[in-house]
Amino acid sequence: MPSFRPLHCPRNDCPSRNSTSLFSFQKRGFYSNKHHRRIQRFWCKACNRSFSSQSFRFHYRLQLPRLHLEFWPFIISKVTLRQSARMLGVDRRTLADRLWRMGLHAKKFHFQRLRNFADKSKIEGVFQLDELETYETDRRLQPVTVPVLIHRQKYFVVALTAGTLPCRGPLSPKLLEMKKEREKEFGKRKSESRKVVNEVLSTLKSLIPIENRIYIQSDRKKLYPSVIKQVFGKNGFVHLQECSKRKRDKGNPLFPINHTLAQMRDNISRLVRRNWGVSKKRNWLVPHLWLWLVWRNYVRPITADGNPPTPGELVGASSHRYCPKEIFQWRIFQF
Ligand SMILES: [Zn+2]
Repeated sequence: MPSFRPLHCPRNDCPSRNSTSLFSFQKRGFYSNKHHRRIQRFWCKACNRSFSSQSFRFHYRLQLPRLHLEFWPFIISKVTLRQSARMLGVDRRTLADRLWRMGLHAKKFHFQRLRNFADKSKIEGVFQLDELETYETDRRLQPVTVPVLIHRQKYFVVALTAGTLPCRGPLSPKLLEMKKEREKEFGKRKSESRKVVNEVLSTLKSLIPIENRIYIQSDRKKLYPSVIKQVFGKNGFVHLQECSKRKRDKGNPLFPINHTLAQMRDNISRLVRRNWGVSKKRNWLVPHLWLWLVWRNYVRPITADGNPPTPGELVGASSHRYCPKEIFQWRIFQF
């Protein structure tokens, strides 16, 4: 990789990382890695330490440097972590660790693309919001909400996250007992719906100039008008509330968001109803969701037929269709 040019030092504690002046470095020859590739070595003039182009790669210092690429197709094909580990011949914990790293990277990758087009103030149109319900460990005792916000026309997923929902009754005596025990340990399970819906709407707000009017379409859940007002109060906003009882076909105004949530259930093993892949912990669901988002926005074309652009290209967040190898080529540094 002779043309590689570092834009900053890879070390988090280097003074150059907080400096606004141009990064100063020297080239210090090459070395060969075990695959006999020539790797460029550099010298950082700010912290007086050496580094190489390798330290900018996603797989830097990871055992099994191709594992994430081999794992990728399973992530968006409803295969559970346990089954993927079996098929790839690796330990489940190794794969869980990779899932965690990949999910964090996917989130940074998405936000990097969002910044691209936030700078150009390009995003406009109608956005749709809804919540998908799933659970961790037990369907009645530990339900989970996953708010999702999309661009209605382009099917671009702007933001998603996950939060807790309170227990759902009626509970059998055995479940009631389990609930009491759990409450003793963790306290009462509360609804985080308001908090997480606020979070996805705030991501949208950060992309849109304050003078632009925002159009949000949702069902008639009572919570939405107040959260939308709370987030967009100072912008002009229009909230279009649709009846969720209508037939869920293409004529339904909420078809794009309904379709997106159905697709999530179809692609992500942790969201499939009542199966063994259901997320044991919410913490593992979130990285999985980010990976799905990156696949949906930047890898998969807007429709499966032919070769149309991806939702990311259509809204101007990305310039081309990404392949997994490109997504996971470089580490994304935060400043
Ligand atoms: Zn340095």
